[in-house]
Amino acid sequence: FYMGKDDNFWEVGTVGPCGPCSEIYYDRGEKYGCGAPGCTVGCDCDRFLEIWNLVFTQFDKQEDGSYAPLPKPNIDTGMGLERLAVVMQDVYSLFDVDTIKSIRDHVCKIANVVYGSNVKKDISIRVITDHVRAITFLSSDGVRASNEGAGYILRRLLRRAVRHGKILGIKGLFLEPLIKTVIENSKHEYSELQEKFEYIITALTVEEKNFNLTIEQGLNILEEYISNLQKENKVVLDGTKCFKLYDTYGFPLDLTLEILEEKGLGVDEEGFKREMEVQRNRARNAQTETTYMGAERTIFHELDTSVNSVFNGYSIYKFDSEIKFITTQNKVVENAKAGENIFIITEQTPFYAESGGQIGDIGEISTDTGVFKVIATTKVVGGKIAHQGEVVNGEIKVNQLAHLDVDRKNRLSIMRNHSATHLLQYALREVIGNHIEQAGSNVTPDRLRFDYTHFQPLSSEQIIEIENLVNNEILNGYDVNIEEMPINEARKKGAMALFGEKYSETVRVVNIGTKSIELCGGTHVANTTEIGTFKIVSETGVASGVRRIEAITGFATLAYYQNLENELNQIGYLLKAQKSDIVKKVHSNLKELQSLQKDYDTLKIQVAKSEAAQILDNAKEINDIKILVSQIENVDMNDLRNMGDTLKNKLGEGVVFLASGNNEKVNLICMATKGAVEKGVHCGNIISKSAKIVDGGG
Ligand SMILES: [Zn+2]
Ligand SMILES: [Zn+2]
Repeated sequence: FYMGKDDNFWEVGTVGPCGPCSEIYYDRGEKYGCGAPGCTVGCDCDRFLEIWNLVFTQFDKQEDGSYAPLPKPNIDTGMGLERLAVVMQDVYSLFDVDTIKSIRDHVCKIANVVYGSNVKKDISIRVITDHVRAITFLSSDGVRASNEGAGYILRRLLRRAVRHGKILGIKGLFLEPLIKTVIENSKHEYSELQEKFEYIITALTVEEKNFNLTIEQGLNILEEYISNLQKENKVVLDGTKCFKLYDTYGFPLDLTLEILEEKGLGVDEEGFKREMEVQRNRARNAQTETTYMGAERTIFHELDTSVNSVFNGYSIYKFDSEIKFITTQNKVVENAKAGENIFIITEQTPFYAESGGQIGDIGEISTDTGVFKVIATTKVVGGKIAHQGEVVNGEIKVNQLAHLDVDRKNRLSIMRNHSATHLLQYALREVIGNHIEQAGSNVTPDRLRFDYTHFQPLSSEQIIEIENLVNNEILNGYDVNIEEMPINEARKKGAMALFGEKYSETVRVVNIGTKSIELCGGTHVANTTEIGTFKIVSETGVASGVRRIEAITGFATLAYYQNLENELNQIGYLLKAQKSDIVKKVHSNLKELQSLQKDYDTLKIQVAKSEAAQILDNAKEINDIKILVSQIENVDMNDLRNMGDTLKNKLGEGVVFLASGNNEKVNLICMATKGAVEKGVHCGNIISKSAKIVDGGG
């Protein structure tokens, strides 16, 4: 079948490699056909199915639209695995292929519906089937739900699946059993599904729960809108409100519509689309604004692009190189004098520029005429490395030969922490499983920080286990092996790479100790013993499904233990106890405190009793009623009331009036026995009169 350029020519964009292609179709037989006369390849029906595509990339399209021959032509081929399965299993569509059908059937079982009985429901069933499969695989690849990139796609797919679950009438959470079916079906070919089983289930269920909460919030707001509409006798919800539901609560238009239609109401869809357009424009404008304002553009864009800086400091800390550029924050300059803050760019440098989570080096750059203190080293545009800092002495000039001198002590601390970070990742995988993925790391001279995907906090036993594993690797004194090799070879070796990171063809592979192999461009110790001792100092959660460990090595660990010991010494001094006796001493002190507390409580009761007796002695009798008036220091309302009750009971018939000053506030109580009230005593009046005297409310 000759189809011509419109159908069988492959090109992307306006210039570049392209060429003719041929498609392989499979004739699935008349039973899948439409039966119309002229039904053949290209017909819209399901009889002829494209299963394979071959692209003969042989041209290089030029700017002027002409096609030049490509120096190295090649053939690109792609087969649709699921389409082939459709053919081989002789089934109607990919949703009938065995592995996918079992997910589909599971969806039907949960929703209590039969596939093929209702066109609208079938759509929902297929959406859930497809999306659950997609999010399971995305999750196993380390994608986490978020608002950007791959994470956003995962979130959208999950929400769409959940929403179609609601359309089918499924109540509550339902993804977990389906995800398990997906994993069960494919774990033999994709072993990572089983390895990350726990993570996948937890991550996706948490996201499902969160979405349900959002929907609930949205539903409440929608109900409010509905009751307002009904009150105002209106039938159309305006587009702005509908858009707010969409934008803030993830409520898709059709869900809002569905709920409104149940009540005989509708949506201003045009208004909704307008709001959507407004938001898109806002996003677009926001982008142009930042570039227009030059936020993205830096002074380094002004520099000659043919000059690159070469980092040569993996094993050396000093090097002499020519100064190629000097700039301030916003100007390229020829020289800089003491007190000026500038950036220096040299041809070569032993200073490591911040990357891969490792902080940049600090140190000193000097020339014949001046000294420059480096406070940060960063990669800037055009493959350059910028040393940032201040001229502290004399003058620094362009084209001078500079002596670059990395702060070695600082760098050694960084290297200890970086190598320890690799060992930590190895130990974490040993202790809690291979499902964890690095979610970020930050290595400075003072400490290392490692973020990873996991839902539970570490137990103190696990922390100790991890510390022991890492320290065991350290004390075994392994040489650190660093090699450059093609990426494929590195993957074969099982080197861990960061998800979503782009690596070049040749990669740097860092092998530390027995099992840690990572792709890494950072600086490392030569032998694990240089790390010293490794100690975890904190373990916290930073986001849903992301945990953070902070740890220290080398001198920092020493300082950590010295501090602890110092505190212990102080405690010992205060307790007048030997270090070995401190715990015993604290126990006996606590015991003593308890018994003293008991004695104190008994005494307090006795004192209160004798005070009460004294107060009772002061009671006066007027007209056969005992009147007891007393002032007590510093008692709050509650205690005053309790005292009043006790006194009243002991008084026989009478009135008790107590006053106490407490924190610049005066508390008054008045209590009368039944007999006293019958004789005309009115506590309310007494309080209100006396309150006026002390200027209170009563
Ligand atoms: Zn047909
Ligand atoms: Zn690394």
